[in-house]
Amino acid sequence: MRLRNIKGSREVIGASEYVIQNPEQWAGRWKEIFENENPIQIEIGMGKGQFLLELARQNPKINYVGIEKYSSVLLRAIEKQREVELPNLRFLRMEAEHITEVFAQGETAKIYLNFSDPWPKDRHAKRRLTSGEFLSRYDKILDKEGTVEFKTDNRALFDFSLESVQESGWKLLVCTYDLHKDEILMEGNVMTEYEERFSAIGNPIHKLIIRR
Ligand code: SAH
Repeated sequence: MRLRNIKGSREVIGASEYVIQNPEQWAGRWKEIFENENPIQIEIGMGKGQFLLELARQNPKINYVGIEKYSSVLLRAIEKQREVELPNLRFLRMEAEHITEVFAQGETAKIYLNFSDPWPKDRHAKRRLTSGEFLSRYDKILDKEGTVEFKTDNRALFDFSLESVQESGWKLLVCTYDLHKDEILMEGNVMTEYEERFSAIGNPIHKLIIRR
C-alpha cells in the first residue's frame, strides 16, 4: 500500500505519543509502555490500521503494536487512533526485518500478517514476511505458545508460505483456502481493509495459523 508522499508525515509521526520512537530502547520493557502485564500482539504491515484498531477496541486486556514501513500510510492509523485514543494500541514505523531488535525473546504472544506484499520474483523470496528468514525472527520474539496468523488472497504467496512453514518445522494449526465460507473460522473474524476490498471482487481469502 503506497499513498502519495504526504508532506510532513515524518514530523507528525516523530511527535505522536502513539508512535514508539527509538524502539530498540524498549526491547524487553514493553510492559512499561503499556503499564500492565497484558499479552502483546503485533501486526506486521498494518497499513492504515483498520484491523488493529478494531481488535484493540474489542480486547482491552490485550496490547497491540502495529508495524508499518511507510509514513504516509501510518499517518492514517495515527489519525484514527487520535479520535478513539485506545490505551492498548501503539505503532512503530519500521522495516520488519529489524523486529528482533525491538522485541526481546518471548515478548510477544501473537503475530498477525495480513495481505503481505507478495514479492513475486524468486530473488526477493527472503523479503516475503512468511519466508524461512522471517519465521526464524518470529521464533525469537514469540512466547512458548505464540502463534502467527496469516491472511491473503494471493494463492502463490499462500502456497509459498505453506512450504516455508513445513521446511521450518512449524506446525500448521489452521489452513483454509476460503475463509469466508468457513463458518467456524469466521466467528469473530475481523476484516482488514484489503480483505474487504478483495473479497468484494470475489477473491477467496486464504488463512493459516501456525505455531512451533
Ligand atoms: N494489513 C493491511 C495492509 C496490507 S498492504 C490490510 O490487510 O489491509 C501491506 C502493508 O504492509 C503495506 O502498507 C506495506 O507498506 C507494509 N509492509 C510490507 N512489508 C513490510 C515490511 N517488511 N515492514 C513493514 N511494513 C511492511
